[in-house]
Amino acid sequence: MTRDIAIDGPSGSGKSTVGMSVAQRLCMPFVDSGLLYRVFTAAYLAEYPDDRQIDHERLTKILKGVIVRSKEGSFLYEGGEVPLPLHDPRVDELVSPVSAVPDVRRAVNRELRRIAAVQDVVMVGRDIGTAVLPQAFLKIFIDAAPEVRARRRTIQLSHHGMLADYNAVLANLLTRDALDSTREDSPLLCDSTYIRLDNSCDGSEAIVNRIIEEYRRRIAHAV
Ligand code: C5P
Repeated sequence: MTRDIAIDGPSGSGKSTVGMSVAQRLCMPFVDSGLLYRVFTAAYLAEYPDDRQIDHERLTKILKGVIVRSKEGSFLYEGGEVPLPLHDPRVDELVSPVSAVPDVRRAVNRELRRIAAVQDVVMVGRDIGTAVLPQAFLKIFIDAAPEVRARRRTIQLSHHGMLADYNAVLANLLTRDALDSTREDSPLLCDSTYIRLDNSCDGSEAIVNRIIEEYRRRIAHAV
């Protein structure tokens, strides 16, 4: 029986911070699925820097390239370091349209399932519990107020040395929320198989504890 933990939620909800901490405490690998969508988007922008919209033919070409992760944790596309930071605002702008393309989702999902096939994981994203690992042992949906998410994201960007305007970040989050929740292929949604947790009040530690408690409770009952 697999014991994967799927954590989904919108941008800036704090799911990666929570997921990383849960993974660390349970000694499980942490997988951030959003990074794979970002790698494809950054590779696309490196090849076609002037595109402000996705050209499907060009995207199909990018999808044929090979992505691997280096020992240091950075991503290599066709053997070379992806030249654009994965959290660059230009990547933020195009990542949702890229990830709405079914061929992209198929390529990413194949890779995610390959990782989860050999070990139990804590995996975060938008559709992990609905599409990637629908049989996950525990499914968590983390949400937070848009203003809180935008504030967090602005701070994160500045920590990465990128100048970010709060209003632009908020607008990008809302646009991505709308695209991610309304696309046809595996939209972001919280169904009754999830436990929904609100992370608006900087309570990451409390949320981590709650997830670990629930995970252990389920393991005790599963035996
Ligand atoms: O989580 P993060 O903000 O890095 O994800 C970037 C984008 O990748 C999201 O806005 C969403 O469009 C896409 N994504 C997705 N499905 C996932 C993870 C991310 O569509 N499982």
